[in-house]
Amino acid sequence: MDFKQHIKIVQNWPKEGIQFKDITPLMNNGQAYKQAIDEIIDYAKQKEVDIIVGPEARGFIIGCPVAYALETGFVPVRKEGKLPREVIKVDYGLEYGENVLTIHKDAVKPGQRVLITDDLLATGGTIEATINLVEQLGGVVAGCAFLIELSYLNGMEKLKNYDVLTLMRY
Ligand code: AMP
Repeated sequence: MDFKQHIKIVQNWPKEGIQFKDITPLMNNGQAYKQAIDEIIDYAKQKEVDIIVGPEARGFIIGCPVAYALETGFVPVRKEGKLPREVIKVDYGLEYGENVLTIHKDAVKPGQRVLITDDLLATGGTIEATINLVEQLGGVVAGCAFLIELSYLNGMEKLKNYDVLTLMRY
């Protein structure tokens, strides 16, 4: 399937100079969404993952159906102040300003094989922060899966020591 026909590119949104890749038409098409998720499920099976971890909010859209299909469980990575119990956190730089991501301290067990999911790899800051959280808890990052990679932003450079699946490249 040509997944790109289900991605809408929105110029200059949310700000001037950004070409926003809108995945909602893909999600809106039952067959396209299912096929994309099925490819990630196959990848997760190959990598023999024990648990799926995804950053809010679009990492959930990809990771939760994979976790449901494989009966692995899903761990949300969230912005500061959103998770109710004891967390660990990581600060990371954004294009403008700073962001903090958190994970529940007991969410990943040492030695568990983890698949990290998100919709899109841009600069790689979000995925790098998520990997940092998983590894602080002793998880083993068995793979990272994205619908889209923006190769012109070199996020893959931050993932060179990890196994990565992307379904579309721009
Ligand atoms: P980054 O941390 O730079 O890799 O950015 C990753 C997150 O920002 C992804 O989870 C995307 O949801 C979002 N994002 C960044 N750039 C774009 C873009 N051009 N189109 C759509 N989403 C984007």
